[in-house]
Amino acid sequence: MIEKIRIAVAGVGGRMGRKLIQAVKESKQVVLGAALARAALRGIDAGELAGISAIGVPISDSLTEVKDAFDILMDFTQQEATMKNLEVCSNYNKGVIIGTTGLSDAQKAVIRASALHTGIVLAANFSVGGNLMFKLLEKVAQVLVWEKDIEIMEVHHRNKVDAPSGTALAMGEAIAGSLGRDIASCAVYGSELHTGSRKAKSIGLTAVRAGEIVGEHTALFVDRGESIEITHKASSRITFAYGAISATLWLGREKIGLYDMLDVIGLENGKLVLGQ
Ligand code: NAD
Repeated sequence: MIEKIRIAVAGVGGRMGRKLIQAVKESKQVVLGAALARAALRGIDAGELAGISAIGVPISDSLTEVKDAFDILMDFTQQEATMKNLEVCSNYNKGVIIGTTGLSDAQKAVIRASALHTGIVLAANFSVGGNLMFKLLEKVAQVLVWEKDIEIMEVHHRNKVDAPSGTALAMGEAIAGSLGRDIASCAVYGSELHTGSRKAKSIGLTAVRAGEIVGEHTALFVDRGESIEITHKASSRITFAYGAISATLWLGREKIGLYDMLDVIGLENGKLVLGQ
């Protein structure tokens, strides 16, 4: 019998942390081995904190302390915490699923270097629909030949700390990549920068923060007399948590290297498949 993969969840007190605990509990293929949070939550049962029944895993505030209790870490926390956790996982040959967004180029370089000897899935969006949207955007950008104006708009809850969202940036990269442009040089952030007429070949990114909205992203392609909008709406964070479980099963204990959710989902004969 194949032993279940033991998961550690970081930031279990957070919005995503609680959903990850719920998804791990629901899965028959993985088991919760450890749960991490700030010191104030130490000792509390992770299941109780997540709002489900007790799960028998007390929260720790030290990843090193629980290093023998897990195979793969799921980290949807905050940039500095993620980088510290990655270092521990790298030292002890543990896989890492990284959902934290807003990582700097320097932090991404460290992640790439760690992936030379660690298995890592890094994705700005772990939902299947979100990743399907990236593929659709590449296609739309390739197919449309007219000189269109392109805007990416995203709406998230008021507590989100980074903007534009990781998903919006990934949308920009997908579109710019398809058009042979560099998103770093063609992105225009925020409407207050749109002075005068629109800059040719620019891609606009606008962020709105309001209420409890989980995450809505739209890419708008506009030409004279017509437009195309592609929208993805996440109505529950559980979709990202289920994606993280799929990523864990796909990565397993042995794979080394840096992957994203499109590697996990895979495209076969033009159809999306959920790989394991
Ligand atoms: P949140 O603020 O609700 O939760 C973050 C948790 O991390 C908190 O419990 C906080 O205490 C903990 N944390 C932060 N720094 C810590 C530290 N130094 N030590 C210990 N714990 C620490 O945020 P959230 O809404 O759950 O989002 C978390 C991250 O996941 C964000 O970067 C968000 O953008 C990202 N996210 C990614 C996806 C995806 O699919 N990739 C989906 C949703 C959210």
